[in-house]
Amino acid sequence: MINPALDGLIREIRAKGLERAGRKAKTVSWRERDYLDGTVEAGVVIMPTRGCSWGLRSGCSMCGYVYDSPAVVDWDALLGDFTHALEELDGVPYLKVFNSGSFFDEREVPPEMRDRIIGLVNQAGPRRLQVESRPEFVTPEVLGETVDALDAELEVGIGLETASDYIRTHCINKGFSLEDFERALGSCQDTGAPVKAYLLVKPPFLTEREAVEDAVASARTACEMGASRVSFNPMNVQRGTLVEALWRRGEYRPPWLWSIVEILKRTAGEVEVPVLCHPTAAGKARGAHNCGTCDREIAGAVVEFSVTQDIKHLEGLECREMWQDVLELEGLGQTPGPMGFYVRGRGNGGNRWPVISGK
Ligand code: SF4
Ligand SMILES: [Zn+2]
Repeated sequence: MINPALDGLIREIRAKGLERAGRKAKTVSWRERDYLDGTVEAGVVIMPTRGCSWGLRSGCSMCGYVYDSPAVVDWDALLGDFTHALEELDGVPYLKVFNSGSFFDEREVPPEMRDRIIGLVNQAGPRRLQVESRPEFVTPEVLGETVDALDAELEVGIGLETASDYIRTHCINKGFSLEDFERALGSCQDTGAPVKAYLLVKPPFLTEREAVEDAVASARTACEMGASRVSFNPMNVQRGTLVEALWRRGEYRPPWLWSIVEILKRTAGEVEVPVLCHPTAAGKARGAHNCGTCDREIAGAVVEFSVTQDIKHLEGLECREMWQDVLELEGLGQTPGPMGFYVRGRGNGGNRWPVISGK
């Protein structure tokens, strides 16, 4: 499922970005609070492997991770850094190992390296290991092998982004469908591996209100399908992406933190599973932000809610008038397309960006 115009444009941006990128990266790790059956301490390790295969080809409209992936991977050095990171994260019950792409893509993590990583994780002994993958790499075979080799429970994070095939294709260029996600989720369920569905808050070309409605509806669908957790990723504007190009032209604004509060409150009341959000660059121009006065407090409330799942952290917050005006007024002067999307840009005539229209 590809929109050739959008894909072509992102391919151009990607080629230029890759030319410019230093493509040098090192393993980074940190501790953070998260939620499993209560608040837990989690360890996060980002391993710079060769980069997402989809991202190297063209990729998603908001993603610049491939620029931080080395062109050539020195696996011995990488595994040495990984071992060191695990030592620093000693004792965490929840370990999240991300390679900014797909853990199950053999071009990114060759099977023998996957085995070595799992062996090292077994030595560290967390209760749960989370990895991420695009759905096309989540096969019964690879899941079976991983679950058999791993002492901890395996959790698979999949960047569904939205339950709408229309938005995923025409705004995100994700390159897979809801059906693909459902198949991968089914394979995970068959092996007993819980699935964390990542949802993008405010893909480009949507108004703030559309973004809120899309996120809530997507969480509902993902949970009905069987996702065991939902993690909302509010857009952060990454370098060398289509979203950055739109943002620089003043045609994109990351979501309001108030929208995140709204999405969390509505979904927490509706779905039975944990709903999480750890906004990146919150309060900054490139991340989810509010009016500038209340950003720190509201971002803090979002994180407190995420790690406790206690809705009281999202109640009694004030300063939402400007956001309410945006919800009411944004898009009023523009012509909605047949799906209700408002076409951004300098008029549809000379607009270089793909026009969103029809299903
Ligand atoms: S968002 Fe995920 S699938 Fe898309 S390009 Fe980035 S790493 Fe690849
Ligand atoms: Zn405010």
